[in-house]
Amino acid sequence: MYVVFKYNNCGTWTECAVCHEHERADVGMEPFLEGTWDWVCFECLEKVLPGGQRALEVIRAADAEREEREHLLSGPAGGDAFPF
Ligand SMILES: [Zn+2]
Repeated sequence: MYVVFKYNNCGTWTECAVCHEHERADVGMEPFLEGTWDWVCFECLEKVLPGGQRALEVIRAADAEREEREHLLSGPAGGDAFPF
């Protein structure tokens, strides 16, 4: 069993595909079973992929930083002048 990290862009409630105990819904980088959209909880992630929780934290931090940078580059919505 392999776990991959993919960008989950629909925040629907999902049950862990491994333990079926934990569930959550989150948009962003999440662990899934390879080749599927079967979500894996943090506890199982660590069992299947030791060090996976730390890896996911690093990936999420990089993703958040990228989004922030893109937001800064795109400027204010609508292209209106700054109100000052
Ligand atoms: Zn689980």
